[in-house]
Amino acid sequence: MKAIIFDIRSFSVHDGPGIRTTFFFKGCPLRCAWCHNPESHQPGLQKLSGSRRLGKQTIPFTEEIGKIISLQHALNRAEADRLFYEDSKGGITLSGGEPLMQAGFVKAFLDGARLAGIHTALDTSGFVHKSVFQEVTMSADLVLFDLKIMDADLHRKFTGKSNQLILDNFKWLIRQKTDFIIRIPLIKDITDTTENLQAIRDLLKQAKYIQRIDLLPYHQTACNKYDRLGLSYSLNHLPSYPIDKQQYVKEYFNDSAPLVTLGA
Ligand code: SF4
Repeated sequence: MKAIIFDIRSFSVHDGPGIRTTFFFKGCPLRCAWCHNPESHQPGLQKLSGSRRLGKQTIPFTEEIGKIISLQHALNRAEADRLFYEDSKGGITLSGGEPLMQAGFVKAFLDGARLAGIHTALDTSGFVHKSVFQEVTMSADLVLFDLKIMDADLHRKFTGKSNQLILDNFKWLIRQKTDFIIRIPLIKDITDTTENLQAIRDLLKQAKYIQRIDLLPYHQTACNKYDRLGLSYSLNHLPSYPIDKQQYVKEYFNDSAPLVTLGA
């Protein structure tokens, strides 16, 4: 069994509890205007070619985005960092892109890691068929679920898709005894409006097994990636999300979860 990933990151401390190894799967059905991982969007392997200026010289380059990984290789890679998980109560996180676009592999990976006694987390946008969502999330010890925009029209405008499926999957998830973390991107005048934050807070009142809310403030580091991929980036002039507003939103959600964090 094989999958296409675009990165594996050891010593991650932002993708769930403890120190984690994060596997980034290629392919995503959404196109969030602020996306920090545009290299994840296309599901297949990609070859980039172009040229770079180095002083007075122009140097041609080719670059491959994505690589094929076998299930055994993925399990071996997870196993290699076990010492760090044990000391920090960490584990592995399967992220993307949208990992559930490669659901068969992801479920087998979660099941294999769990069998080996490694804590597993699944980071998902929730935009996936209900039966797939329900089957695969049951194989994870923890679900990291993105809540972006609650208004249907605005969600479609800024991500390219309706939020109906996402909200249906989320409402199913909170009825299970599954631990989960909510991740909210903080994008000025898009996700941080009073109406949107209030709608998210209202929805979270029903969420009994919520462990944490991670707030992910917008920053500009993705601009170079869009240039490299030859993609346009509509938010390239947006400044990084202000610190004082980050604190304000953090306090706003204080009563909604046992812990609220500000991400990198
Ligand atoms: S769901 Fe995540 S990976 Fe997909 S476009 Fe949105 S931010 Fe990017």
